[in-house]
Amino acid sequence: MKVKQDNDRIRVVRAAAGQARSVASEICIGCGLCCDGSIFADVKLQTGDRPDMLKSYGLQISSAKRFCQPCAAFNGQRCEIYSGRPTYCRQFECLLYKRVKSGETSTAAALRIIKKTKAAAHKVRSILSNLGDADEHVSIGKRFRQTTQRIQHYRPDNETAARYGELTVAMHELNLVIREHFYASQDKA
Ligand code: SF4
Ligand code: SF4
Repeated sequence: MKVKQDNDRIRVVRAAAGQARSVASEICIGCGLCCDGSIFADVKLQTGDRPDMLKSYGLQISSAKRFCQPCAAFNGQRCEIYSGRPTYCRQFECLLYKRVKSGETSTAAALRIIKKTKAAAHKVRSILSNLGDADEHVSIGKRFRQTTQRIQHYRPDNETAARYGELTVAMHELNLVIREHFYASQDKA
């Protein structure tokens, strides 16, 4: 009897793991919004993570045991250190991921949401670049704050002021879509 219960438990765990892998391969590859600085500014390491190993993969670990996003291990499509990624990355499931996993949202709908969100993030980055901040190694949120501070320090001409207005609207739209579709109860940063 005990053997049968153990086997049933193993089957349930394996099925859950297989389902998680399937959701990840269906929607996460090619998304990367939780790695590229669109949603998070940084990630905190957890007990058991190995900073030295992560540094050897190119991640810059701060004295506060955090690494910034965009993550150095993200190649634009996927995580290059997937099997050795930190604990938080292993545990993190955005809201959209959870909804696909539970069947509440279809894969096709999720892919449309990801496409829309990536377009919104691209728009913000493009306006930031147009306003003189082209540093793609910094998260969108940090770049937005830096640009805001810079523009508030001088009297912008009309064209710059109008462009900054577009930036605030684009940033607001990005935040709305991220809050609606991606924020879950847990957080990477
Ligand atoms: S934001 Fe969500 S869907 Fe996109 S890669 Fe991260 S967990 Fe996957
Ligand atoms: S280590 Fe991998 S999963 Fe974690 S933030 Fe970097 S690219 Fe994403």
